Amino acid sequence: MKNIAILGSTGSIGTQALDVVRANTDKFKVEVLSAFSNAELLAKQAIEFDVNTVVIQEESKYETLKNLLAHTDIKVFCGEQALADVVTYDSISIVLTALVGYAGLRPTISAIKAKKNIALANKETLVVAGDLITKLAEENDVHILPVDSEHSAIFQCLAGEWHNPIEKIILTASGGPFRGKKTEDLIQVTKNQALKHPNWVMGAKITIDSASLMNKGLEVIEAKWLFNLQASQIDVIVHPQSIIHSIVQFNDGSMKAQMGLPDMKLPIQYALAYPQRISSDFPRFNFIDYPSLTFEQPDLKTFRNLALAFEALDKQGNMACILNAANEIAVEAFLKDQIGFLQMSDLIETCMQKITFIANPNYDEYVNTDKETRIFAASLVASI
Ligand code: NAD
Ligand code: MG
Repeated sequence: MKNIAILGSTGSIGTQALDVVRANTDKFKVEVLSAFSNAELLAKQAIEFDVNTVVIQEESKYETLKNLLAHTDIKVFCGEQALADVVTYDSISIVLTALVGYAGLRPTISAIKAKKNIALANKETLVVAGDLITKLAEENDVHILPVDSEHSAIFQCLAGEWHNPIEKIILTASGGPFRGKKTEDLIQVTKNQALKHPNWVMGAKITIDSASLMNKGLEVIEAKWLFNLQASQIDVIVHPQSIIHSIVQFNDGSMKAQMGLPDMKLPIQYALAYPQRISSDFPRFNFIDYPSLTFEQPDLKTFRNLALAFEALDKQGNMACILNAANEIAVEAFLKDQIGFLQMSDLIETCMQKITFIANPNYDEYVNTDKETRIFAASLVASI
């Protein structure tokens, strides 16, 4: 039996993780659930899974949540500090970080220090401070198990190959809803168009990131840290059907790929059950339904965010932290119709040029970089 904490349980990954737990109650038990502000769903989940503790981020929702759970003995907390505290409970063996954005950093650090394995969906944590996180994980002898489908694919391909050098990895990208479009087509695109992903149903932030290819950029940085690679060892290829989830090429030229229908429940379950594979009733892929799997070069001129992410990786230091914070503000502003689709890249690029570069940042310097970038990026939004 594995006891799990799910951070961000009301979201797309969080609810699918609970589906996995529901189908495997003999293997998994939920100890802690957390959400940003959806007290009703959080309370419902807490009661169904009979959890020990829930944490809500929004203070104004604390009373509502407490009232909804008043007839139970479930502990209720709110705020950032509480989230960082509850992941250290002795009873927890694995923490699924399914919350979105920079907010994942602090509880992840706290969980690693308490020697909890991490099922990592929150890629932003590795983008912001991949060096700190991987070092801490090594020191505390904990596994960082990827939930992102591409990274799970690579991780699955590497099973049994740990001592064999990787020549390169190839991350596949669906291309998003604007695949094939050119800059002039993208000036006027709306958030509703950007929110329609062809293959995956996900939270709003990652859906916009997928449309702008920033998601693939964040994943390139995530892959660097998870698999200890140089930027030159990471390729991206557009594969619109999202059947091949990613590929590893070894030093003898052999390539291994992991395939399946696009369904996040598989990588979530693999991370939670690792190192075992457990049976599932997820729909099976059939080659006959997909007579052609196709591949294209990504268009880095039109989708500048992907080029900016490679640039951040190349510069190292706090540059990816700047990229991430600027992107979070840009996506929020785009979702509020304050800036256009292409202005997101302008904003990120300006932040990367203007925010103080630090070559070897410590934790406090990452926190300050994030803050400074958000303030500057918000001032850019206000001036548009
Ligand atoms: P989502 O928006 O659907 O859910 C986010 C969850 O986090 C919600 O429960 C929300 O209440 C909580 N949350 C949001 N902000 C918070 C904050 N500041 N503090 C505490 N909790 C907060 O997002 P999602 O699509 O489930 O994505 C979650 C993470 O998983 C992201 O990092 C994303 O990049 C990654 N991911 C998602 C998918 C997917 O298919 N959805 C695939 C790969 C990776
Ligand atoms: Mg992914």
